[in-house]
Amino acid sequence: MNMSKGSVSGSIDLDFDRSHIWHPYTSVTDPLPVYPVRRASGVHIELEDGTKLIDGMSSWWAAIHGYNHPALNGAVERQLREMSHVMFGGFTHAPAVNLAKRLAGLLPDALGKVFFSDSGSVSVEVAIKMALQYWAACGRPGKKRLLTVRSGYHGDTFAAMSVCDPVTGMHGLFRGAFPEQYFAAAPSCRFDEPCSEDDIADLGMKLERHHEEIAAVIIEPVVQGAGGMRFYSPDYLVRLRELCDRFDALLIFDEIATGFGRTGKMFALEHAGTVPDIICVGKALTGGYMTLAATVATDAVAEGICSGEPGLFMHGPTFMANPLACAVACASIDLLETFDWQGSVKRIERKLRSGLEPCRSHAEVEDVRVLGAIGVVELRNPVDMAALQKEFIRRGVWIRPFGRLVYLMPPFIIGDGELEELCDAVRHVSSGT
Ligand SMILES: *Cc1c(COP(=O)(O)O)cnc(C)c1O
Repeated sequence: MNMSKGSVSGSIDLDFDRSHIWHPYTSVTDPLPVYPVRRASGVHIELEDGTKLIDGMSSWWAAIHGYNHPALNGAVERQLREMSHVMFGGFTHAPAVNLAKRLAGLLPDALGKVFFSDSGSVSVEVAIKMALQYWAACGRPGKKRLLTVRSGYHGDTFAAMSVCDPVTGMHGLFRGAFPEQYFAAAPSCRFDEPCSEDDIADLGMKLERHHEEIAAVIIEPVVQGAGGMRFYSPDYLVRLRELCDRFDALLIFDEIATGFGRTGKMFALEHAGTVPDIICVGKALTGGYMTLAATVATDAVAEGICSGEPGLFMHGPTFMANPLACAVACASIDLLETFDWQGSVKRIERKLRSGLEPCRSHAEVEDVRVLGAIGVVELRNPVDMAALQKEFIRRGVWIRPFGRLVYLMPPFIIGDGELEELCDAVRHVSSGT
């Protein structure tokens, strides 16, 4: 198969990749190594050279059922034979209606108006636009800014970026190019602690001071993901809801990472019993098969938006409610409903606890935390990602650390033995050897 010169692995031209393709958050002129994948099945990712890796990442929160799942494959294949896509302006179709029904069924009753979009970031843009249009329609056009907490992550498009943590989101680089939002201190109360007056004081103060301008508070409920993998008290959300009501701010929950069982509840908001005005879901929505997201609003928000000028919501992506993606999302939700995912996530949580807790004694380790199917080892210093990646691959696992964080969020179908291998690998690298 000698297809071209240079470092060709199987049929993949790695030289071409190196010199022409951007990968996430990397240089295209001096990129970090990438490993060519041939296929993936169950919890295994197979490289071109035949190396099999146990997946510890679920491809960034998404592949909750593992890869190449027969039920999900079947859903895509059946839908492909009907139609892969048709415009959503003026048309509708069974996959979209079925998925919206399922989503509305899973979410709290108040959340019933579903807007489909192509990716998590876009769903956040949509949520923000909804909040601004809502207040404009209510005759309060001055409410155009967002309040959020530090250490958050909401995506890479402009409005989404404006509410990411200013430091890890590199706001300095884009200053002036997006609206300046209000930031309160990150929640400091731990998951199993109550939220004190102090814990929420900064947020309350910012709302009190700026509520005339604040359209909405946006936050990742319970788990702050890419902004630092931090877990905080559900009680914080209860208080936040009260504050939003008191100061006329909508509450937006970004459940793009936490949705569909990852934290042990179908949605993280269930830990608090708090209902937002708008919620964003994505990532695991399609079981990691395709890009799809949804922004779901309450009837009150939807009616507000549509009662004012111009009487409609100003957004409509080309690939809105893509039928292939909606069909596989329905199948993924069906799968969740047919197996004991709560049992699986509990089992994973126990295993991650016992497997990662010993890391705490390592001099290099700052903190170890586990919630649901998420295990985090926070180090004192940033890791050498390329070196660690290589070591993980040598050990037959796929774990991709960032900054000072080495973390696991495996597919829910992972077996105990495979989980132990993942934990062994993390224990090994965090011991500093
Ligand atoms: C990944 C993520 C996003 C962005 O989703 P994309 O599909 O990458 O655009 C937004 N919010 C949270 C919490 C996420 O984890």
